Order: sequence, then C-alpha cells, then structure tokens
Amino acid sequence: MENKLAIQEDLIKPGTKARPGEHHLKKWIVIHETDNFKHTAGAKSHATFIKNLAEQNSKYLSWHYTVDDKDIIRHIPDNEIAWHAGDGRKSNGGNMSGIGIEICVNSDSNFRVAVRNAAKLVALLMKKHNMTVNQIKQHNFFSGKNCPSSIRKYGFWDTFLQMCSNEFKYLK
Ligand SMILES: [Zn+2]
Repeated sequence: MENKLAIQEDLIKPGTKARPGEHHLKKWIVIHETDNFKHTAGAKSHATFIKNLAEQNSKYLSWHYTVDDKDIIRHIPDNEIAWHAGDGRKSNGGNMSGIGIEICVNSDSNFRVAVRNAAKLVALLMKKHNMTVNQIKQHNFFSGKNCPSSIRKYGFWDTFLQMCSNEFKYLK
C-alpha cells in the first residue's frame, strides 16, 4: 500500500486573530471532525474557508491540518497556537499546547480513507515531535464537545489510536 504521505502547505495569513503566531509546546494532538457532511466540503474547501476567515480577521477560530480521503493540508505551522479546542487560553490546554487536526466527513469523501490518512498524519507528527500515543486526544477531552462525533458515535476511538500506533511503527 502507498505509504508516502504528501502534506500540502497552504498557510493562512499570520498576525491575525486566527493565526497570532504565538509559539507553543506541542503537548497534544487534538482530533476533530468537521461535522460538515455537505458535498465538496473537503480539505480544499476548508483550506479556502480558513484562509478567508484569517483575511477577514474576525474570529478566533483555526486549526493546523485538514484531512480528507485525498488531501492533507497544513494551515498553521505545528509550533504555533490555534483556536480549535474550545478551552480558551488554558495553560497546557488544547488551544495553547495542541496540534489540531480536522477530519472531513463530507459525503463525497471516503470517511474510512480520511481516518486512515489522519492516522498517518498523526504518526508523522508523533515521530517529528517525539510524542506518544498518550498525547493523542479527542477535542472532547478539552471542552466536553461531542467531537470527533462520528468516531465517538461508532466507538471507533480505540481503533483509531491503534491505527496511529501501527502507522507509527511502520514509520520507524
Ligand atoms: Zn472539534
């Protein structure tokens, strides 16, 4: 199986509410789902959305990566904070210390493949930043939000962590 994972970089505007550029400790990888089931609401369309949002400089909303069944797009460098975990500026929290990954659930993306791509991305981040599987958390862990909702609904979280571990072993 093809293991090479191409991360596309499409960074949002720095010095904005969405991307203030404060550096952080990478303590967590925070897993989300977009909950946008609309046709075409994949990684590319989320990249456009978040870029526009940063340009408008209207909201404290951002995350680091969006993943669907085809694309993995980086919006913010790993070492900067982003606003995705719903826990404000809490010290060591998801926003202040987490790398946020949104998994797309759009109807024209194969969700299983998107989840597998997310696991591959997580494994790469674990290797790059010397992190363990214990540092992979649901958005829910930080704010109580029902996110990632499908993974939670179908009881798929432990399997997802196992997938991340397997991909990590495969990288070594
Ligand atoms: Zn979330």
